[in-house]
Amino acid sequence: MRPSLLDPLFSPITSLAGIGPKVAVLIEKVVPADLGDRAARVGDLMFVLPNSVIDRRNRPGIALSAEGAIVTLEVRIDRHQPAPRGNRSVPYRVFAHDDTGEIALTFFHAHAAYLEKAMPEGEKVIVSGRMEWFNGRPSMVHPDHIALASEADKLPLVEPVYPLTAGLSGKVLRRAIGQSLERLPALPEWLDAELMRRQSFPDFTAALQRVHNPADPIDASPENAAWRRLAYDELLAGQVSLALVRAKVRKLHGRPLTGDGRIVNALRAALPYQLTGSQQTALEEIDADLAKPERMLRLLQGDVGSGKTVVALLAMARAVEAGGQAALMAPTEILARQHMATIAPLAERVGIKVAVLTGREKGRDRAQTLAGLESGEIDIVIGTHALFQETVAFRDLALAVIDEQHRFGVHQRLAMNAKGQAPDMLVMTATPIPRTLVLTAFGDMDVSRLTEKPAGRQPIRTVTLPLERIDELVGRVRDAVAEGQKIYWICPLVEESEEVKLMSAEDRFASLQPVFGNRIGIVHGRMKGADKDEAMRAFKAGETRVLIATTVIEVGVDVPDATIMVIEHAERFGLAQLHQLRGRVGRGSKPSSCVLLYKDPLGETAKRRLSVMRDTEDGFVIAEEDLKLRGEGELLGTRQSGTPGFQVARIEAHADLLEIARDDARLILARDPELVSPRGEALRLLLYVFGRDEAVRLLRAG
Ligand code: ADP
Ligand code: MG
Repeated sequence: MRPSLLDPLFSPITSLAGIGPKVAVLIEKVVPADLGDRAARVGDLMFVLPNSVIDRRNRPGIALSAEGAIVTLEVRIDRHQPAPRGNRSVPYRVFAHDDTGEIALTFFHAHAAYLEKAMPEGEKVIVSGRMEWFNGRPSMVHPDHIALASEADKLPLVEPVYPLTAGLSGKVLRRAIGQSLERLPALPEWLDAELMRRQSFPDFTAALQRVHNPADPIDASPENAAWRRLAYDELLAGQVSLALVRAKVRKLHGRPLTGDGRIVNALRAALPYQLTGSQQTALEEIDADLAKPERMLRLLQGDVGSGKTVVALLAMARAVEAGGQAALMAPTEILARQHMATIAPLAERVGIKVAVLTGREKGRDRAQTLAGLESGEIDIVIGTHALFQETVAFRDLALAVIDEQHRFGVHQRLAMNAKGQAPDMLVMTATPIPRTLVLTAFGDMDVSRLTEKPAGRQPIRTVTLPLERIDELVGRVRDAVAEGQKIYWICPLVEESEEVKLMSAEDRFASLQPVFGNRIGIVHGRMKGADKDEAMRAFKAGETRVLIATTVIEVGVDVPDATIMVIEHAERFGLAQLHQLRGRVGRGSKPSSCVLLYKDPLGETAKRRLSVMRDTEDGFVIAEEDLKLRGEGELLGTRQSGTPGFQVARIEAHADLLEIARDDARLILARDPELVSPRGEALRLLLYVFGRDEAVRLLRAG
């Protein structure tokens, strides 16, 4: 049970003054916690940390305030000049002065009553905002803050600026965050005193206070001790919970899986190509793990197109050979079916029975598959999240392979554990995650890497093109279609709320169909499953030659003879995503190209991103650049800010803390594996505070 001490942090944000259901929805967009389908809680608000600060300490006096500067002025109010009746275009002006001169405080569409109350004539008032000079006269339009001089302490001199979303005002968010801090109970210290001294960490509450109410801009920066303290807490919570999961997983000890090589060798002989050296090495590592009595927990990292699927297949074949069953889980239905299409014919030739199970299998087919899994008649099942459902039972699940893992969380990994007698786990990811992130995102798994591409691959020529020149591009695509080439054309997902006019996949399809007739297809996330399949099938078979798609194809789709990738509004995609998309071509022996269509004018970061794409195809180089350009938010395809899976920690600023946290976690659990000492109890609170409850549940389950 969660200690009741923490209850205030777990109440919904609508319990705060001024937060109704509508505002709550907006706040949920800026809360860094991965909410899933739960509502935001008071405790989530504490971790909405400032992006920057506005420094209002500058008090030069009216006459010395520079044009455009943010200043704070202490002025005496002289008189109010309301807008003339019936003429709303003339602003309401309030004239005031200090020792250096006079200023007009200017308000459009003002509420007179409010202004009169906030700035009574003759009173001393503090205003803060941006200075404007016009014809030698100073003014301040809509000051950000107005306070009576007697209440000056209400004015934040160093004001944190939080991430905002359309419709949510900074003031409302600041007030909500302030209230969340007030509700924070006094918590016992969970950090080691010596570490705190060495790192000059304040305590948890003080750290939050300092970041949210900075006295100096430095207080609100990730490099500062206060933020670092919070980051350390979060990293430690992560490491402790991973260590708990791992301890639990290891406890369910595995069993040796070995085979006589009959099926594996037959499969290898049936492949139309030679394995690459690194596929070979990865397989040896996997085989060695499988043969050991301990469980395998291995991450297979390989850039797009490096050939992870066949490695998974051979590993699964080994598990089957050893008498068990295997499951391959994909993040999308398209991908599950594609795996099925690749694997089924090969498997059939060597006598392995394969089935697919997604949310779409219904009725008798589904019942049959479920029965086959339970009886052991089916050797390999390929599916989506549906595999996690409780109705799915295996006779003997020996190996679980998870493709593109970052979309699945620890929860699902645990759910999968429950299915087998501690199945071996192989997690595959195409994201070229730097070493530091492997640790944060996956814990200390063993890693195999596919470092080379299959032989015969041609480099991909990448060009950038402004949208205005789309006609040229369409002409070139038409020529390519005439030559029998296949073209992907990606459009960004357009959210309905979006104000910018963007071409959606449907619009683009409509505009190109007159050119390509029945040789053009479309696939996007909102289509029915069967229609998606049909669109992919027709494109694979060459019936359609141009496929308009949203990013549903991003993860893992394989059409080896596609040669051109057009990405529309490329400036809106992150580097990692562009790389993933581009990796859909260049898989065959024909030369391929990638056209990044962008809309002028390009921002600096977008410009840099596109040029990185032009310069390199190396996933790791791209990942490193991504880290530099945007922080690692986009690297795992998750949020735009911050580190994936983390609310507070920013790997670029806190990488050094990660190693310490890992060692700390190990030491803690070596001494107190059940977290029952006083520090252990405090650490349980920490796990709750950072939403690692599942790990605490493991403790209880024993
Ligand atoms: P990813 O690592 O992106 O999942 P896939 O497993 O989809 O890559 O493989 C990409 C393509 O490369 C597939 O068409 C696959 O058949 C092919 N392939 C895999 N291994 C080899 C190899 N050793 N030689 C030639 N082609 C290969
Ligand atoms: Mg793949």
